[in-house]
Amino acid sequence: MKIYADNAATTKMSQRAIQAMLPYMSEIYGNPSSLHSEGQRAAEALADARRRIAGLLGAQENEILFTSGGSESDNQAILSAARLGERAGKKHIISSGIEHHAVLHTLDRLKKEGFEITLLDTGEDGILQADQVAGAIRPDTCLVTVMYANNEIGTIQPIKEIGAVCREKGVLFHTDGVQAAGHIPIHVEEDHIDMLSISAHKFHGPKGIGVLYARKGIPLISLIEGGAQERGKRAGTENIPAIMGMAEAFEEALEHLEEKNEKLTGLRERLIDGLSEIPHCILNGDRERRLPGNVSFCFEGIEGEAMLLLLDDKGICASSGSACTSGSLEPSHVLLAIGRPHEIAHGSLRLSLSEENTEEEVDYIISGVKEVTAYLRGISPVWRALENGEQKFIL
Ligand SMILES: *Cc1c(COP(=O)(O)O)cnc(C)c1O
Repeated sequence: MKIYADNAATTKMSQRAIQAMLPYMSEIYGNPSSLHSEGQRAAEALADARRRIAGLLGAQENEILFTSGGSESDNQAILSAARLGERAGKKHIISSGIEHHAVLHTLDRLKKEGFEITLLDTGEDGILQADQVAGAIRPDTCLVTVMYANNEIGTIQPIKEIGAVCREKGVLFHTDGVQAAGHIPIHVEEDHIDMLSISAHKFHGPKGIGVLYARKGIPLISLIEGGAQERGKRAGTENIPAIMGMAEAFEEALEHLEEKNEKLTGLRERLIDGLSEIPHCILNGDRERRLPGNVSFCFEGIEGEAMLLLLDDKGICASSGSACTSGSLEPSHVLLAIGRPHEIAHGSLRLSLSEENTEEEVDYIISGVKEVTAYLRGISPVWRALENGEQKFIL
């Protein structure tokens, strides 16, 4: 049995997205900047993809910028707002402690330049309140950047309410929508979003392509200098096959979204119920306000990496947190931010399901995790100390 349950790291491309890309790697290979008819066919495809993606987000075509993915979009959005703020003498930025590193590391860079960064605390449920944002906004605040949904614990933020607060106070609002796009509805107008990052490989599209939505009138800086592509804000020949694949994947992901999410939520609840039977464990993040496919647990007395390797032996692909922190021995900053102690945060497991997973697979995962946790605890001196009372259980 081979079960892929790491869809928050990346997804398998859909057949429709692959098919949508193929013609642009063979027959229609022109450069959209070329004036001849071959170039113009590519330019038409590019315009069509931009129109379709804009429509799906409630945006205008000229507000959609194609980038290399979520990380680039986050960087460009935040740096653009910072440069704009700097010119007006505003050097304060508000964000949360559970953001993706593409956001946090960009903020670190700005901090070194003299920006002041306020990271709001989500509390144990992993959810911010719009009031917290309202209370943190100052006259010198140039940006609020809060992710739509978290990549580790799956919690969904009250983006519409946060957007409304920012709009009322006249502060730019960016949201990293990479985990949300294609999974839950996003509408830039209704959600009062000024800038939004999305990435195709998180919704069954190709890797290395994404979008930065920026409301009309927001002056973007470019991270890459060169030609005048993307209205001069992102130089380099457009990746037409990937862009076509992304447009198709996004459309497909949003078709019958409610039905798909109903099924996915059922699988998620089954998995949460099953894993909750394991003693001394805890679900990370609010149980309801989370992505339909996200399950995240901490198990006491377990080392996360060891659990992953043993699960992989059973054919289960999972993650300890985000793909970005694996390989480092530091526990997840997200789990620490929601108040998990170090020794608990080390025993984390994230399972991110897609609509392709089945109930049989979920049951197999449950029994696999039960076996692996029992085995690891059986050989652990820490566990023995917990069981014979030399050390106190936390969970
Ligand atoms: C994956 C991810 C990113 C990075 O996107 P890439 O396209 O891989 O650069 C950024 N933010 C979140 C929340 C993500 O899950």
